[in-house]
Amino acid sequence: MNKAASTIPAVGIDLGTTYSVVACLDEQERPRSIVNGEGDLLTPSVVLFEGDQVIVGREAVKAMAVDADQVADCPKRFLGRRMYPRPLHGQEWPPEALEAWVLDKLRRDASRTVGNFRHAVITVPAYFDEVRRKATQDAGYMAGLDVLDIINEPTAAAVAFGMAEGFLDERGEAKRPINILVYDLGGGTFDVTVMRLEGGHFQTLSTDGDFQLGGKDWDQRLVDFVAAEFMKRYQVDPRDDLSAAARIWRECEEAKRTLSLRGKATIAADYQGNWIRLEITRAEFESMTRDLLERTTFTCREAISAAGLSWDDVDRVLLVGGSTRMPQVKEMLAELSGRAPDDSISPDEAVAHGAAIRAGAILAAHAGRPPRLKIRNVNSHSLGVVGKDPKTLRSRTGILIPRNTPLPASATRTFRTQKADQRSILLQIVEGENPDPIYNSQVGRCTVPNLPKGLPAGQPILVSFEYEENGRLSVHVRVEGTDVELAHELNRENSLAQADLDRYRKQISGLPPQVIALATPI
Ligand code: ADP
Ligand code: MG
Repeated sequence: MNKAASTIPAVGIDLGTTYSVVACLDEQERPRSIVNGEGDLLTPSVVLFEGDQVIVGREAVKAMAVDADQVADCPKRFLGRRMYPRPLHGQEWPPEALEAWVLDKLRRDASRTVGNFRHAVITVPAYFDEVRRKATQDAGYMAGLDVLDIINEPTAAAVAFGMAEGFLDERGEAKRPINILVYDLGGGTFDVTVMRLEGGHFQTLSTDGDFQLGGKDWDQRLVDFVAAEFMKRYQVDPRDDLSAAARIWRECEEAKRTLSLRGKATIAADYQGNWIRLEITRAEFESMTRDLLERTTFTCREAISAAGLSWDDVDRVLLVGGSTRMPQVKEMLAELSGRAPDDSISPDEAVAHGAAIRAGAILAAHAGRPPRLKIRNVNSHSLGVVGKDPKTLRSRTGILIPRNTPLPASATRTFRTQKADQRSILLQIVEGENPDPIYNSQVGRCTVPNLPKGLPAGQPILVSFEYEENGRLSVHVRVEGTDVELAHELNRENSLAQADLDRYRKQISGLPPQVIALATPI
């Protein structure tokens, strides 16, 4: 897999909530997953702080059973917040810096296979808002990477399956227009995305999900089952003890994996000197988790209708995420969609493979070769401003760019001044669907000062948004009948300043600050 020194390896990284995977293109331009330092394809996205050492992956997971408070479990869930909820090793950490530790480990380990590299494409869930995309990009920087692009996980999966199963040609273009549904059930989140592939255009028609639902919930049902048995036989609950619970959880997760392959599994567990051994059949497991599966069914239906399609219009269903290995998932999807889902690529590797293909395409474009893979993204959340309902005087979300609008997009909407002789306007920009802005997330704010004296109430204010594919949002405000204008590029709240990024970069990757050229869009 080693490339000639003159060529830059095309590396793609699936920075998952529970597991991360790195892939690169081999000499035949085929994606291959790369093993980590422990010889595994999947690296748990878990960080352990132990003395001066930071340990990522399998060993950090093991430490969870004894040292839970020194372990950052799934930092991806906290991206967008200022700090991880608790200090680690006496230091507060922004979640993106913890993600950087994960990326740093992935980069170092992969370097052993592909040689030293900097450039990589990183994937994010389709529903990630701009704050979390930027945080992911920053994590890459702090880990010593030059992030070529941030792409959506379902898009990456579609690219990988498309190349492997031949619904894309060797240039990455759909042979005929098709609609696909990407069903991604991971460890802690569930995402579903409906896409239309037409030639080299990949358009997301709708995206939905449940970020409180994943393989862990299936594990939990088994843990509860074991705990109930302990309580019945010995009147003790092993869930009261963090490390006992962690041990039983590991047993249960193992049993769950067994049940994907076999009709029954045994779970052995001990707590306070009491020992039990339980046998469970696949049918029992499926019935105790039926409602979880049904939640995903419901979300799939919603996504199909949000895309304006019916099941007959769906040409392919792609299985992504380790939890789709459970036979119940495949059966449910076959019944729901009327066709067997695609499972030719291992569901945990598809996203990383697609990211590597994307990296290859970008690097080729940089080298002056013809562009490949034109991916059209949509915004996953509506963007708007906070206004006031003139009748009720309640705050309302005034949406400018509705969710699922193909990017780049621009829109203008007219608002009005509230009272006579209003001298300034406060523009609060929000992301989300709720008519009540307090339930949406604040993206930023800006003020338009110095309105001329004597304007009547109801003076029209034209607010325009320009939303680029890289997530940059420019806001333009014009007050009609005056020469007051404001152009503003949005600064994300909670994002780290360059000096902090450079400091963490030094601490985490040991590398000096660097000016990173933006990737040329293709
Ligand atoms: P994420 O994208 O959330 O980081 P993955 O897609 O790697 O994670 O999925 C991890 C989940 O897949 C875990 O909950 C794990 O238990 C589950 N999983 C992996 N293999 C199997 C299997 N053979 N049967 C059932 N569940 C599995
Ligand atoms: Mg995943």
